[in-house]
Amino acid sequence: MDPRLYADLDGMPDLLDAVQDYAHDILGGLDDRPVTSTARPADAEPLPTQGIGGAAALRRFETRWAPGLSASAGPRYLGFVTGGATPAAVAGDWLTSVFDQNTITVQDSAASSLERESVRWIRDLLHLPDDFTGAFVTGATMSNLTGLALAREWIGDRLGVSVSTQGVAALGPVVVLSGAAHSTVSKALSVLGLGRDSLHPVALLPGRDAIDVDALRAALRDQDGRPAIVVANAGTVNTGDFDDLDAIADLREEFPFWLHVDGAFGAFAALSPSHAHLVAGLGRADSVCVDLHKWLNVPYDSGLQLSRHHELQARVFGNTSAYIGVPGTDPDFVHLTPESSRRLRALPAWFTLCAYGRDGHREIVERTIALARRVGQQLAEITGVELLAPVRLNIVCLKVPGDPADLARRIAETGVTFLTPTVHHGTPALRLAFSNWRTSEADADRIVEVFRHLLSGG
Ligand SMILES: *Cc1c(COP(=O)(O)O)cnc(C)c1O
Repeated sequence: MDPRLYADLDGMPDLLDAVQDYAHDILGGLDDRPVTSTARPADAEPLPTQGIGGAAALRRFETRWAPGLSASAGPRYLGFVTGGATPAAVAGDWLTSVFDQNTITVQDSAASSLERESVRWIRDLLHLPDDFTGAFVTGATMSNLTGLALAREWIGDRLGVSVSTQGVAALGPVVVLSGAAHSTVSKALSVLGLGRDSLHPVALLPGRDAIDVDALRAALRDQDGRPAIVVANAGTVNTGDFDDLDAIADLREEFPFWLHVDGAFGAFAALSPSHAHLVAGLGRADSVCVDLHKWLNVPYDSGLQLSRHHELQARVFGNTSAYIGVPGTDPDFVHLTPESSRRLRALPAWFTLCAYGRDGHREIVERTIALARRVGQQLAEITGVELLAPVRLNIVCLKVPGDPADLARRIAETGVTFLTPTVHHGTPALRLAFSNWRTSEADADRIVEVFRHLLSGG
């Protein structure tokens, strides 16, 4: 054994203690850490020939790379939709590495069963019916890709071809209809061979990011009975808007289509009794996408794909081999997911749900919604600032005086908060997304104060 590796084997408790102390400092200092950082090492370092051992690597990381890492786990990082990691989720994530399980099969370990329990918990958290099954994937991008891969196979069934054996060319053109689809839907269509051009945007309701269901009906009618894919949105990134999922699901009585719902963060509206109506009808979808590293506040990378078409899934993702076997009636995850070998990604989610339960996570969702609304109201009182949409959920979308990207940069330079610019229906805008379990009213006040200060010319 390499001497440094041997020394670390011997000194493992000390190394882990050092990492724990360091992690404690970082997490304890999140509130004061600049929310973003531009620090980068000056020079590239060559690959070490002889390593320096774990303890020295930790010190090297601390000085060389850590100063450049953002406080995205902290309470005032509002860019994109970025959750943090609850204490129990961090514990689960550490133990995922410690146990280093491969959830490929049930042959050697209960890890797959733990994952199944976690999937059921999240299904129940979101009030989805019992016939939904699912698997952990790296995030909503892979979840959308998986759902759309099932949709592709389902269309093949309707047309009498098997895409999984014959290839996508056997299918001919497929039409994918959506209102304000997330960019990852287009990416998934590119990967799946359906092509980005297969995505046909459907008109939105006036001033909204929600699909106009009459326009969708007309687009489906134009298909003349050819099966299609509808991607409905539960929580759009710009304004947190929702399609009318029940009205869309009703259209299946008239037209053949697969209904995929992208509820990456918006599906968590189900946790708040006063917002659950926004996701009414979610359980009528064929496939559902949710992200866990956003509003569930588990570390990256964690998302869930859910669907009620188990058999189709094993056909698309089946990974038959002499040593793994064939997908049976209750296939292993290796036959259900894009990956083969996979970490016990469910453990952080299992930990946080076990530790805080439905009530704990409902409180996070409700508090962040309330903070978004409060910040939205207070910012709209600043001269020249205008809400571009009502705060329906956890996202504030603003028109600001001047160039939003420039204001976003100046806001980031304060180190207090980080927001991302966007374009909303042609208007350059700024958006603030609240989803971190740590965010408090005091944080909300500091965020508003930064705007007041910068926009008063101060
Ligand atoms: C974040 C998000 C995605 C992409 O998710 P990743 O976790 O980045 O893969 C897809 N759809 C919506 C609505 C999102 O908010």
